[in-house]
Amino acid sequence: MKPPSQTNAIDFDRAKLQRLGFGQQPPRPERSVSLAQMRQQLSQLLQTSLEPQRILGLFFREIQRLVPLDALSYEHKASDLRLEFGECAPHSISFSLNHEGEHLGRLVFRRKQTFSDQEQGNLESILSALLYPMRNTLLYRAATQSALRDPLTDTGNRIAMDQTLQREIEMSRQHLQPLSLLMLDIDHFKHVNDNHGHSAGDEVLKAVAGSIKHQLRNVDMVFRFGGEEFLILLSNTGREAAAMVGERLRFAAQEQEYAADGKSIELTVSLGCSTLLPGESADSLLRRADNALYVAKRAGRNRLAMAG
Ligand code: GH3
Ligand code: MG
Ligand code: MG
Repeated sequence: MKPPSQTNAIDFDRAKLQRLGFGQQPPRPERSVSLAQMRQQLSQLLQTSLEPQRILGLFFREIQRLVPLDALSYEHKASDLRLEFGECAPHSISFSLNHEGEHLGRLVFRRKQTFSDQEQGNLESILSALLYPMRNTLLYRAATQSALRDPLTDTGNRIAMDQTLQREIEMSRQHLQPLSLLMLDIDHFKHVNDNHGHSAGDEVLKAVAGSIKHQLRNVDMVFRFGGEEFLILLSNTGREAAAMVGERLRFAAQEQEYAADGKSIELTVSLGCSTLLPGESADSLLRRADNALYVAKRAGRNRLAMAG
């Protein structure tokens, strides 16, 4: 006979689930759980995670004991967060989650059968168990996201870039897809600061970042690499296609209107492009793009150079 699978690791979530009366035990008959009891149990359970997917997944699973459901969806536009559980069904009730004037998202419960008044009341009442967990997860999400962004240009920062580059290299190997990288540097940017001041320079930086993002389908792949340098990751993009994207970015940056003190500024950018080689490290890929950028600068700027 096959032995049951074992693990010595303590699963805190599962341990807590069992202590709280959830988990492995068969579902109790509906009436044995009072609404107040369930709300209290759920509140504690939902505090065991900061991941919205997990919190709402647990909520969806446990709430079945009170009101059977086919689907649950959640949306919080400000955080760009949208989650779906279960399978869509025709009848729905939606609730807006609000706490002390703060909007915490919108929940839609769906089911094949209609909802009775009592069920609606139960759902409304049990929702309070979600308030603090969802508020915490949204705060946590905002904090972790802002730790990965450059506030001036609203692009990813170096930490985000390192993480994303590693992930993209792994994906590229796994799926045997090409990966290219563009390093873009503003030409003679020091002149902008020297002639128009640092804050005019900041505005130009924002405008260049805006122009790059405007040209790309995936804005999550744009990073501020240094002072006036940006890095663009192009997943599933080979050498020739990456060169075309690079040229498009160069052209768009040149066409964009920049102004300081009411006067317009002429601006160009230079780019270096590298495409991942078999077995190549992130450092090497970056170094080759940087070398190509240097070649573009040496050759007279306002151009794209390809890594060898
Ligand atoms: P090149 O064409 O060779 O790239 O010349 P450059 O003047 O663009 O390059 P250099 O590296 O000599 O100067 C970059 C300048 O970018 C110097 C620095 O003061 C400026 N800089 C870096 N970060 C910021 C920033 O956040 N805001 C502003 N306004 N300027 C910045
Ligand atoms: Mg520069
Ligand atoms: Mg530079």
